[in-house]
Amino acid sequence: METTLTILKPDCVRKQLTGAVIDKIERTGFRIVAMKKTKLTKETAGAFYAVHRERPFFGELVQFMSSGPCVPMILEKENAVEDFRKLIGATDPAEAEEGTIRKLYADSKGENIVHGSDSGDNAQIESSFFFSTEETVRVNN
Ligand code: ATP
Ligand code: MG
Repeated sequence: METTLTILKPDCVRKQLTGAVIDKIERTGFRIVAMKKTKLTKETAGAFYAVHRERPFFGELVQFMSSGPCVPMILEKENAVEDFRKLIGATDPAEAEEGTIRKLYADSKGENIVHGSDSGDNAQIESSFFFSTEETVRVNN
């Protein structure tokens, strides 16, 4: 079993799509280990996406990610990191495969509904960004 970290981004919450997206995630076989609704500040959004701080879209990304509440979750499944990236689709919804969450629901490359960790190591780092050790104990299985 592996875990990954997702965030249902502020556009997902604003468009009242959290239920639809969670339904899709659960139907694909992911179990929710931890989940909460929170609002990032510009500082915490910038820290979460610090790897992109030199990129031209960083200011826009921080502005968007702090623009309203979001829903971070730790998800568990075999091959969770790779399988979740497949489920969400390409960063730009115009390039995402049919049936993926971003293809179904995202408006643009900037506002693309969900985040997904890109490696097992980053999943661990990102999970501890939002959740305490106690909260990450797997109680579902
Ligand atoms: P995420 O990390 O949120 O899962 P990703 O891994 O598909 O997305 P990254 O390259 O890590 O893509 O970019 C992080 C986020 O920054 C993207 O999801 C998107 O919201 C934003 N972003 C990336 N590239 C652009 C761009 N060219 N213009 C605007 N926003 C962008
Ligand atoms: Mg990324």
